[in-house]
Amino acid sequence: MARSKVEAKTQPEFRSRLKEADPELAGLLKKELARQRGTIELIASENFTSRAVLEAAASVLTNKYAEGYPGARYYGGCEFVDEVETLAIDRCQQLFGAEHVNVQPHSGSTANQAVYFAELAMGDAILAMKLDHGGHLTHGLKVNFSGRFYHVHSYGLDKETGRLDYDDIEEIARERQPQLIVAGASAYPRSIDFARFAGIARSVGARLMVDMAHIAGLVAAGLHPDPVAVSDYVTTTTHKTLAGPRSGVILCKQKFARNVDKAVFPGLQGGPLMHIIAAKAACFKLAGTEEFRQRQKQTVVNAAVLAGRLQEGGIQLVSGGTDNHLMLADLTDIGITGIEAENRLEEVGITVNKNSVPFDPLPPTVTSGVRIGTPAVTTRGFREAEMEEVAAIILAALGQRVTTAEKKRLRRRVNELLAAFPLYPHL
Ligand code: PLP
Repeated sequence: MARSKVEAKTQPEFRSRLKEADPELAGLLKKELARQRGTIELIASENFTSRAVLEAAASVLTNKYAEGYPGARYYGGCEFVDEVETLAIDRCQQLFGAEHVNVQPHSGSTANQAVYFAELAMGDAILAMKLDHGGHLTHGLKVNFSGRFYHVHSYGLDKETGRLDYDDIEEIARERQPQLIVAGASAYPRSIDFARFAGIARSVGARLMVDMAHIAGLVAAGLHPDPVAVSDYVTTTTHKTLAGPRSGVILCKQKFARNVDKAVFPGLQGGPLMHIIAAKAACFKLAGTEEFRQRQKQTVVNAAVLAGRLQEGGIQLVSGGTDNHLMLADLTDIGITGIEAENRLEEVGITVNKNSVPFDPLPPTVTSGVRIGTPAVTTRGFREAEMEEVAAIILAALGQRVTTAEKKRLRRRVNELLAAFPLYPHL
């Protein structure tokens, strides 16, 4: 079918204005679009958001100041953004079954910061996952606000199984008596038992915060144990498996609502990004559809296929596989570092990120592993057959003595795969 009239009118108009006013910037955006189109995106925390979300994020709502909350703003002219924010809140509440939702955090880090701010006093103790075992910067890295303002205790993965050891976490919690326990990770390939975490938190009188940034899409689709019912606080980004705009959200029990809202505004932020809140509203609506659920299912299937083929090809995976959208390859046995693998794959058109593996002897700038995820390629349309080909290309690229000619051949195979799945054809 021919492009709709609205499309033909609005999109080129928008683009041409940018090109006219700022050709330098427009050129860079064009290059980035070409990069996204021309590479196989396997960064586990990335995705391709929908046109609906892109449109909301690029809307006139970016013009509007709206400090405060719906019905209680510090600026006039908020009648429509009030409705937008209420829509985002209602949809998020419904999607995850949350008692209270704050959609204003600008990012996942800010959402975590707001919960700490709401729940803790300076110097209080938190117990969270070690960064080099899969935790996030905001879970207590020394140079991060979390490591500077709070007393951080951490838990890691079992050396043998590469999995969380809940008995060990319970023991550390009993010993350290943290005020807040943080569950959730940036690089953990297995399902997390949030109910068990809740039991541990209860037993030591701590609150539980689950950071579900990576798995929010899977949770929304019912493919991962639900953290919302069993936790005091749940934070998430909206741009990973959830496929929304780059941003954050806090879900909590009603009794914490006031403190959370105060911590976000005026505690940490001024005016909310209303265009991004609108994009979040669109994202939550889409995440409630059957199409989204099917895509999340396919994301998990694709990860399992890729994991299986990589293992057959001699690559070790931390914990021996994956239950979710990502895997962590330990490259020690094939004699290549994380940074080398990242660069080698980039040369053939595949994007991943180097990542420490548990008990990694190498520094974070080098690492022994790479993290590989399937949300973006699944959104692009890849299924089992494409994942088999991706695995074959990865194995060939990471093999010893890969020649320049071989890399060129691999790049061509990447191009052939991508050609069948056009990205943002309207742009
Ligand atoms: N929490 C987890 C588990 C993450 O993986 C990330 C981002 O990678 C964040 C929080 C922070 O999100 P943002 O980059 O939006 O601050």
